[in-house]
Amino acid sequence: MLWFTEYYSGEGMELSGTGLTVRVKSALRKKTPFQELLLLETEDWGRMLVLDGAIQTTEKDEFIYHEMIVHPAAFTLTRQIERVLVIGGGDGGTVREVLKHNPIQIDMVEIDRDVVEFSKEHLPSISCSIDDERVNLIFEDGREFVKNRKEVYDLIVVDCSDPVGPSRVLYEESFYRDAAKALKPGGIFVTQSESPFAQKRIHLKIVEELSKVFKSVRPYLAFIPTYPSGMWSFTIASNELDPLKVPYSSLDNLYREFTKRNGELRYYNPKIHYGAFAIPNFVYREE
Ligand code: SAM
Repeated sequence: MLWFTEYYSGEGMELSGTGLTVRVKSALRKKTPFQELLLLETEDWGRMLVLDGAIQTTEKDEFIYHEMIVHPAAFTLTRQIERVLVIGGGDGGTVREVLKHNPIQIDMVEIDRDVVEFSKEHLPSISCSIDDERVNLIFEDGREFVKNRKEVYDLIVVDCSDPVGPSRVLYEESFYRDAAKALKPGGIFVTQSESPFAQKRIHLKIVEELSKVFKSVRPYLAFIPTYPSGMWSFTIASNELDPLKVPYSSLDNLYREFTKRNGELRYYNPKIHYGAFAIPNFVYREE
């Protein structure tokens, strides 16, 4: 029996003497021009996608990440969502969740075509909506793509990997400025923002850089067992909207309508919407 270990490493990792080990039944490896892909058939987590040694998603817990990167921002935008930009997200889980809000078009900008092809072949329950006719797949660097786009999107979702390699540019203030310009007035931006426990300095830097650009910046948490420490964060930013100012009764009504079309979600619900924004004291304390 094979075992795979993700050694927690890389810039800003504060648990570099730690890792996560899973028992593996089989493994498939592919080298792309950008990174090394690994598809593991695991004993406990179903299929697992690993990029350059870092676990990206597993069939068992992907719903938490993908619901939580999309729905808190999407339910804050109480108007009809027309155009959405997803940067990264090659496994397809993010567009699957965005489509539940009936957008007219999603531009999904993924730098590595092989991640999409690999996920379509090996992770059908996650990538199942990538070929939806409303998804416009663009294989390009998301950093370059947002330059010079003015007031196009209602929602921008940055579903990228850790700030090493091609993702690094998606954590810079200049990128956040271009993303803010690409939003329509009243639009909303969300990015995954690392683990406040395992990568606290990076998490705080993301919030700080976003705060230089947007009036409202709200980090929030979700429990994701296969990510370092299990404590994960996302951050919503907007110049006009605030996820905590959406009245509970209107969110509850919107969610009920949503579930009539899509069924219940597995993690997100209106109570999670507010509760996720409660951040433990240690995150913002010098320790
Ligand atoms: N859930 C994941 C996590 O936090 O570990 C992210 C998953 S998703 C597979 C990340 C994707 O971002 C990868 O497929 C990668 O190719 C893509 N990516 C990295 N840098 C990018 C860039 N500059 N532009 C567009 N896509 C990028």
